[in-house]
Amino acid sequence: MEELKKLIRDVPDFPQKGIIFKDITTLIKDKNGFKRAIDLLKEKINHLNFEKFVAIESRGYIFGAALAYLMDKGLVIVRKPGKLPAETIQEEYSLEYGTNTIEMHKDAINKGEKVVIIDDLLATGGTARATAKLIERLGGKVEGVLFLIELDFLKGIEKLKGYNIYSIIHY
Ligand code: AMP
Repeated sequence: MEELKKLIRDVPDFPQKGIIFKDITTLIKDKNGFKRAIDLLKEKINHLNFEKFVAIESRGYIFGAALAYLMDKGLVIVRKPGKLPAETIQEEYSLEYGTNTIEMHKDAINKGEKVVIIDDLLATGGTARATAKLIERLGGKVEGVLFLIELDFLKGIEKLKGYNIYSIIHY
């Protein structure tokens, strides 16, 4: 864990003043670091029974794609508005910095399908909660919510009460 922490770069005042941005580009450019991160993420949820990962734009895709391949799962992408080409459903949510809307294809998840949400970082939990709502509106079931990094002091898990949260690195 400590070796992974060393590979994550703190960028102060990005994207706005007062935010310390946890930059994972320094981790994923390191082949051992990236591999270790994927292996640890897999370990955390290996016991879960599910069909698909639901990855959150955009850094969630990096980890979601590698895990889906490694674990033989499907991959659904949650995107910012206007990016997905077919029919979508939307949810509005609030971020650590500002508000946003996310979209998912209407046919991305089948009724009763079990999924795991994946993103790089849990901050306030707004994005992951909105993603869970999209999944549930389509009749899917959230078996777990997986993060590489959790900012404990923002208490994102409180917004995700009732869900199984898994994270590797805590600040
Ligand atoms: P939240 O909805 O507040 O949990 O925010 C989570 C989303 O915002 C994730 O997709 C993160 O990548 C991004 N994010 C929020 N805060 C930070 C931060 N301090 N460093 C890096 N990414 C962040």
